[in-house]
Amino acid sequence: MSWETALDEKIRTYLPELVWLTDEPLAKHCSFRIGGPAKRMAVPVTTEQTVILSGLLLEAGVRSITLGNGTNILFPDEGLDAVVVATGELSHIKRTGETEISAEAGVSLSRLATFAWKDGLSGLEFAHGIPGSVGGGVVMNAGAYGGALSDVITEAVGLWNDGVRTLKTEALKLSYRHSIFTEQPEAIVLRAVFRLEHGDGDAIRARMDELMEKRKTSQPLEYPSAGSTFKRPEGHFAGALIEQCGLKGTRVGGAEVSVKHAGFIINTGGATCADVLGLIELVQNRVLKETGVTLEPEVRIVK
Ligand SMILES: Cc1cc2nc3c(=O)[nH]c(=O)nc-3n(C[C@H](O)[C@H](O)[C@H](O)COP(=O)(O)OP(=O)(O)OC[C@H]3O[C@@H](n4cnc5c(N)ncnc54)[C@H](O)[C@@H]3O)c2cc1C
Repeated sequence: MSWETALDEKIRTYLPELVWLTDEPLAKHCSFRIGGPAKRMAVPVTTEQTVILSGLLLEAGVRSITLGNGTNILFPDEGLDAVVVATGELSHIKRTGETEISAEAGVSLSRLATFAWKDGLSGLEFAHGIPGSVGGGVVMNAGAYGGALSDVITEAVGLWNDGVRTLKTEALKLSYRHSIFTEQPEAIVLRAVFRLEHGDGDAIRARMDELMEKRKTSQPLEYPSAGSTFKRPEGHFAGALIEQCGLKGTRVGGAEVSVKHAGFIINTGGATCADVLGLIELVQNRVLKETGVTLEPEVRIVK
């Protein structure tokens, strides 16, 4: 019996209410709009479902990949012989203290920032325009315009193979686009707590709008992409180096180095994962040859 059939049976028995999809096209679930089907996709709606599911996957020895909003991920053209655990329906958010908000992994960063603004809490304005989820944001320590989630997180709750644990800021090992979860991709972020400051509602909203406007003018938001393709190399900006090498507009198949922002690789229509990987390699080689700087992908490449 294939692992899928065996697991289908277990899910029917132990998690009959779980949304459990077969051959789900991954292109539908990521901002690059690239990727073949996942053999199975699970969409848990509660922590309890997630814990039971994780136990079943572990017991079956099946590979699993956690998915947030899919805005920093590149899936293979041939799809995945695995279970994708989509966290988007873990979507509770609440005020848990004078200046504290707790949000489940699937809450979008934009909803989190809007929630904070409506409660007169400042500190998440920078996150409003980042299209990821709380879970993906914690994993990547998402940041922009001088702010990062590491400035405001007090703890995160994660699910490891041996159970659920709460980690305080220090233990999360948050640094530039890095966390304990990038070191331990088998763990699932379930929720996080953010400590903010009281602020003026109008000023918070104005800052959110100002940063969104900056994004619209500088980023190719009209095309599918995964945001900045490369991490910022020490002492440089990836986009500036790529532009300096004359690579704006360079294409491999349907993938293109954005003319609007050289730090973005965009899908101009019908780009494959192979196109994007080919273009990443071309850019890395040229930038290394001409500037001596090594560019490391920020986008999480799933193989
Ligand atoms: C137009 C655009 C602009 C962007 N601008 C910014 C920006 O300004 N700053 C910035 O930092 N990023 C930016 N990004 C990138 C992206 O939004 C962030 O990295 C975001 O934090 C990713 O969140 P996600 O939920 O989409 O994660 P996904 O893309 O779904 O996943 C990213 C990684 O996290 C893992 N993951 C996701 N959720 C969980 C979970 N609950 N538990 C465990 N692992 C999980 C995945 O397996 C994967 O390895 C941008 C992207 C786009 C498309």
